[in-house]
Amino acid sequence: MSSFLDPYLDDSHRVFRELCRRFAEEQLAPHAEAWEEAGSFPRELYAQAADAGVLAPTWPEALGGGGGDTFHGVIAGEELLRGESTGVVVGLGSLQIALPPILHLGTPEQHRRFIVPVLAGEQIAALAITEPGTGSDVAAVRTRAEPDGDGDGYRITGSKTFITSGVRADLVVVLARTGDDPHGGLTFFVVERGMAGFEVSRALRKTGWWASDTAELHFDGVQVPASHRLGDEGSGFSALMRNFEGERLMLAINGTALAALSLEHALAYAHQREAFGRPLKKLQVIRHKLAEMQTQVASAQTLTYAVADRMRRGEPCISEVALAKNHASLVARDVCWEAVQIFGGMGYMRETVVERFARDARLLPIGGGTQEIMNEIICRFGLGL
Ligand SMILES: Cc1cc2nc3c(=O)[nH]c(=O)nc-3n(C[C@H](O)[C@H](O)[C@H](O)COP(=O)(O)OP(=O)(O)OC[C@H]3O[C@@H](n4cnc5c(N)ncnc54)[C@H](O)[C@@H]3O)c2cc1C
Repeated sequence: MSSFLDPYLDDSHRVFRELCRRFAEEQLAPHAEAWEEAGSFPRELYAQAADAGVLAPTWPEALGGGGGDTFHGVIAGEELLRGESTGVVVGLGSLQIALPPILHLGTPEQHRRFIVPVLAGEQIAALAITEPGTGSDVAAVRTRAEPDGDGDGYRITGSKTFITSGVRADLVVVLARTGDDPHGGLTFFVVERGMAGFEVSRALRKTGWWASDTAELHFDGVQVPASHRLGDEGSGFSALMRNFEGERLMLAINGTALAALSLEHALAYAHQREAFGRPLKKLQVIRHKLAEMQTQVASAQTLTYAVADRMRRGEPCISEVALAKNHASLVARDVCWEAVQIFGGMGYMRETVVERFARDARLLPIGGGTQEIMNEIICRFGLGL
């Protein structure tokens, strides 16, 4: 799985890959089926992952992160999936989308107060953008943050939905409207569990990602002090666009890894399973399926790693990351589906990892901006249409 990544790596990445793989195989995989069926994983896992150094490899060391580069994040995304649960990977990973607005817009005091406990695995963070009435059209966000008449704070009112880790989050980074301009009137706030008027209205059930929680949240005049506002009023939209690039890279990596691991499982099964007196690997139809799956995985890896390298160099890549996400999503859809086919009846059983991965892959063209929205971005920023 790593061959296309090799030109981008140094020894620190190789050592880190081994660390992540060991953590996934020893601490995650033995429990994956139970956690998926339970729809949850133990809260202590955040601290275990932090102690092992796999929770926040790319975050600044001064805040408790690993101080690594983009490819340490790529490797963590790939290797933690060997723990056989996308739900666990995205549950542990919700900090990767929730904390960047705090890092980029927040003060040193906000970094210390909100980021440090999350990177230590003591608190859980979630990002709340999507609302029951709007997802793709972020400029239509209706949750409002009105000035609080009694002081210099705000009162937040509205609802958010589909929020990863929202059920048990200690802090939620919320995009709210502080002005009427569709883009220029959006601002990020930190809302903490226990604040009056903030409640988890529903825990949602999903097609895949079972071990991660997904919430509908309600804010009924939640009073937040000005110290919980991130950056100036109106700074939310541009911070969110920056956030999306990191999130879309993570999803492209997830798609690539789901496909690569499904291929690994299918290959192992083709060696061991016999039909008509021969192992499946001797049947030309199966052999060619595996060759085509390998071709697709290699194309997704090559594209995704090239975009990750561009991000590491700090180059703009809004259109490139959109097409990497779309390509990896389609590759994951096809390869995970074919892996189920190679497993035959066992591929349809819940005890089989490729069954889980095929369900998990369905999220990729939806979450973090849909396939259609990615195509719009490619048209606008890549093709100048
Ligand atoms: C498991 C899961 C986890 C998630 N986690 C989070 C999270 O942590 N935080 C968060 O804020 N959100 C989260 N989301 C929400 C996710 O980002 C949105 O679902 C996604 O952006 C799509 O928005 P929507 O569901 O409102 O679809 P809509 O915007 O209603 O779109 C419906 C359909 O119309 C299409 N469409 C819309 N506009 C256009 C257009 N201009 N051109 C062409 N087609 C268009 C879409 O592509 C889609 O096919 C999560 C979603 C899921 C399923």
